Amino acid sequence: MSTASRRPFIAGNWKLNNDLAATRSLIRALREGLAGSAPVADIAVAPVFTALHVAAEELDGSLVGLSAQDCFWETDGAFTGEVSAKMLADVGCRYVILGHSERRQHFGETDATVNRKVRAALAAGLTPIVCVGETLTDREGGKTLQVVERQVRGALEGLETEEVGRLVLAYEPVWAIGTGKVASTEQVQEVHGAIRALLSDRAGEEVAERVRIQYGGSVKPDNAAELLKLPDVDGALVGGASLKAADFIAIIRAAG
Ligand code: PEP
Repeated sequence: MSTASRRPFIAGNWKLNNDLAATRSLIRALREGLAGSAPVADIAVAPVFTALHVAAEELDGSLVGLSAQDCFWETDGAFTGEVSAKMLADVGCRYVILGHSERRQHFGETDATVNRKVRAALAAGLTPIVCVGETLTDREGGKTLQVVERQVRGALEGLETEEVGRLVLAYEPVWAIGTGKVASTEQVQEVHGAIRALLSDRAGEEVAERVRIQYGGSVKPDNAAELLKLPDVDGALVGGASLKAADFIAIIRAAG
């Protein structure tokens, strides 16, 4: 399958890291490191909610897009503690990460809540980065494809074909996140190929060929190139290595 029409997309998930000063200095270092060369990929960073406004200021005029790490599905109202997709668009976000395994594991996120958030994000004009991936128990039980397929179908429930085409998916095996264990290239390509086949079944080949599927799970400068050259890998969702400008830039360059 040709990847020629899919521009790589490298996103940094900062998780619960970086106060306002660290947000400013990391974005400045990224801008400095990326200056002067045409980017080979779409790029985004996802700071914590409280740093989004400052990050939007620092990113103004750059090609690096702003992402949030989650959103709520209602636009406003009596939902103490929540932040809506519409508010994220208002602060300058272009993307929102949804269904990250840490949210599924620690905050009760389900396929159904991910689906509600995906719809809200699309309605607000954001591009959802929908995370899916199996646990080690799932993999050892031979259930990887079954679990990933359930998560993808759940996230896509009720979406129009055109809306499916506006998503980015991220395959992140839970056992590879933050552990230093990377899925083998065979494991990654198998799951990415299965997701693309599912997209084709669900929304047609043209949409399936267009949707970008990132890999995430201990992506580092020294393993990025081999992962990013796989035919159905269209970028990376990077956690730990996105907190160091030099490492994140090296991963972006590996996409070229
Ligand atoms: C992530 O949190 O999405 C992630 C992939 O983390 P790490 O790169 O640290 O494994």
